Amino acid sequence: MNFLKHARESRLAMLRFAVAAIVVCALALMGCAGLPVGETKAQSPKNIVIIFADGVAATQWDFGRYTSNVLRRQPFVTTELFRDKGIGLLISSPHGAYVTDSAAAGSAMATGFKVDNGILSVTPDGKSARTVMQAAKAKGKRIGLISTATVYDATPAAFSMNAKSRRDSQALVDKYLALEPDVLLGGGADYFLPVGAGGKRKDGKDMIAAFRGKGWQVVSNTAELKAATGVKLLGLFADEDMDFDIESDRAKEPTMAEMTAGALKALSQANPNGFVLLVENENTDTAGHANDAAALMRALWATDDAVKVALDFQRSSPDTLVIVTGDHETGGFSPTYALKDLSSLSSSNRFYIGDAQIKMLEPITMSLTTAAEKLGKKPSAEAVDALVAKHFPGFKLDADLRDLIVKQKPLERSHAYVVQNVLGRMVARQTGIYWGTGGHTSEPVLVGAPGPGSDLFRGYRDNTDFGRNLLRLIDAR
Ligand SMILES: [Zn+2]
Repeated sequence: MNFLKHARESRLAMLRFAVAAIVVCALALMGCAGLPVGETKAQSPKNIVIIFADGVAATQWDFGRYTSNVLRRQPFVTTELFRDKGIGLLISSPHGAYVTDSAAAGSAMATGFKVDNGILSVTPDGKSARTVMQAAKAKGKRIGLISTATVYDATPAAFSMNAKSRRDSQALVDKYLALEPDVLLGGGADYFLPVGAGGKRKDGKDMIAAFRGKGWQVVSNTAELKAATGVKLLGLFADEDMDFDIESDRAKEPTMAEMTAGALKALSQANPNGFVLLVENENTDTAGHANDAAALMRALWATDDAVKVALDFQRSSPDTLVIVTGDHETGGFSPTYALKDLSSLSSSNRFYIGDAQIKMLEPITMSLTTAAEKLGKKPSAEAVDALVAKHFPGFKLDADLRDLIVKQKPLERSHAYVVQNVLGRMVARQTGIYWGTGGHTSEPVLVGAPGPGSDLFRGYRDNTDFGRNLLRLIDAR
């Protein structure tokens, strides 16, 4: 009996070994990235469009889905894409820590190398790593960068250039002029113009004029963007970051979808070698820092509208890979259940986030970031109450929270945006949409990538794999 059992176990062990050996051999043949080496060229897309929601992980995308279904009565294309085409999951950590900033995350995703937080595509040993946009340029491809933040913000900058600090805005704009992106759309006019001419540059240079002189069409509002016919386009729609969708003036500042459409129109002209376009929504991250569920919701919808534009383009140009992803999670976003009040700890005194709760977000007319700006550093209790009554109908600010705002005290050490995070807690107490932090977290991020080369982006991977595979696709064609 013992002998029989032993023999059976031996056979099982040998079988397991054989299966493992076959898997190892197959993986070796395929290369680490998951595609047979010879197939990379055949699978390489002509065009690549990366739709990038900063600070967005699975919980945010899913929040976009159910709020869009209920409040907008529109399907959410991004999660349908994840469902139908499969997903990848990326570890987001930088060099030397487990929580990343956007500079280090963007660098890993643009170069395949881990860098320290705050650094743009320069490795810890001081070497400049080749970026996706530099590689695309070298291949004769056209390139475009869009951000709802400043165009020189961490993500578009990390994808384009090498710099030891993400903060030297003037130098980053200089590097853009040297790189010559065919399309550059977003905020950040301040570091394109000198002091005295409405800008912040200390060298007296007018970089908008410099781009115009090199043949770029310059636009500064939605109508000009829509009417633009240039193959090279510079559009700066705000001095600093562009506004949140919840409160923006769309005649002045185009939506993320309108910017994506404008960029695709320009880039698809005179395009024999294809293009690489990065479209970033930064408001999703800023809303996360603020713990602002209403602004996040509308920024997610805006991102989904841009995904629709990219997928429409892919339908007419199937030789296009569309990638939808984020760089890290922001806010420890936690739609949950909670007690209605502290009168009883019983589950009968509990509510779960549902349609009634998300419907409360719809009438909110101001971002928490703007609320903090309006209240200033020394708000009175009356000013706080008046702002809540006007812009947050249906919400009640508890006395303990009002006190924190008036005294400018944070909820916790992890919540440094005092007014925003405290008003975020007000919204949480009535909707169940809580937040664990005012910063970033280590949660992995999702990737959906329909189109040629999509296999490279499936499965559980590191963010450096994302960068390496992107470069591999660009180099192969
Ligand atoms: Zn952030």
